[in-house]
Amino acid sequence: MHYWDMPDHARALSERALELIRECKSAPTPPHYELWFNYASGLNQELIEALNDAVQQGHASDPAFMRDLHMRFFGGNLTTAIDDMGEKLQQELHKFVQVLEDAGQDTASYGKTLNVAAQQLSSGDVNQFKAVVQSLVAATRAIETKHKAIETELKSSSNEIKSLRQRLESIREESRVDALTGLVNRRGFDEQIASAVREADADRSDLCLLIGDVDFFKRFNDTWGHATGDQVLRLVAQCFKANTKGRDMAARYGGEEFVVALPQTTYTNALTVAEQIRVAVESKKIIKRSTGETLGSITLSLGVAKYVVGETIEATLERADACLYAAKRSGRNRVVGEDALAATEGKLHSRA
Ligand code: GH3
Ligand code: MG
Ligand code: MG
Repeated sequence: MHYWDMPDHARALSERALELIRECKSAPTPPHYELWFNYASGLNQELIEALNDAVQQGHASDPAFMRDLHMRFFGGNLTTAIDDMGEKLQQELHKFVQVLEDAGQDTASYGKTLNVAAQQLSSGDVNQFKAVVQSLVAATRAIETKHKAIETELKSSSNEIKSLRQRLESIREESRVDALTGLVNRRGFDEQIASAVREADADRSDLCLLIGDVDFFKRFNDTWGHATGDQVLRLVAQCFKANTKGRDMAARYGGEEFVVALPQTTYTNALTVAEQIRVAVESKKIIKRSTGETLGSITLSLGVAKYVVGETIEATLERADACLYAAKRSGRNRVVGEDALAATEGKLHSRA
């Protein structure tokens, strides 16, 4: 969409975006503006649904929540960084081509000099011989110097391109990591899980998923503030890191939601890992860094499901999510596995 060509449309969207920001009682910061401007444009259905959900659940005025949403849809500052690099890369390539074109012209004119010299020599005029050789030596020296300069220029261009490529790679990696906790983010997880699924399909090995969500985190934030909330999320992430190893993939999937993929792990062992994480979180004492005040402890609810060959990983995630919500419903600070959930639901059905 080229808004440059439609200033009136852009103006209308801008006004609507600001109106929406006011309605949500949030600050007109650039990320909020970008989210709501795109919402108003009606072009991205996924973004529209995410923002509708945020409004419905009262998250639209929550800066942390909206920051995550912005990260999810616009990748923070990464898009600008990638744009900058694209421009630099283009400049370097242009320079490269220019140098090669100049080199081509120089070589062509050297070729002409050689041809003229060859003709002069074949005329057999001995008097001209010395002058021809002198002009040949001068032309050869000149082209030698040019070639050296070209070599240096090409070397520096190719070094620049190499460093741009490395920077691009590190930005790509950055875009898969959650800045707050250092865990892989949703994008990274979605990429990594694809290969784990392929492997489970190929060798029929076990693959389990667990989802954890911090209990009553909104209340915690409201009581102690977002900065302390962030500190807690780091602590929870550490519990996930400490209790997973090897090929396990722990990720921060959303605000206060974490997922782990456990390749080559049986359902029973996945339940054990989930329980270890739950206990680890529960046993941490939360201390406010700035004041040293003890803020009690926090808890985590978890759901566990096993991937079934041939299904989509989203289906497994949905079952793990249903377990997580069963854990929330039945009192929080617990692990619910899909077998246990199915058994309870079976009992309910047989009673009905
Ligand atoms: P439940 O036990 O049902 O999960 O309740 P909850 O309060 O944890 O769940 P709810 O979905 O109502 O609220 C989640 C809260 O998580 C809202 C938001 O303030 C907080 N949150 C999400 N992301 C971040 C973040 O990056 N930093 C901080 N500090 N808080 C966050
Ligand atoms: Mg929660
Ligand atoms: Mg949640």
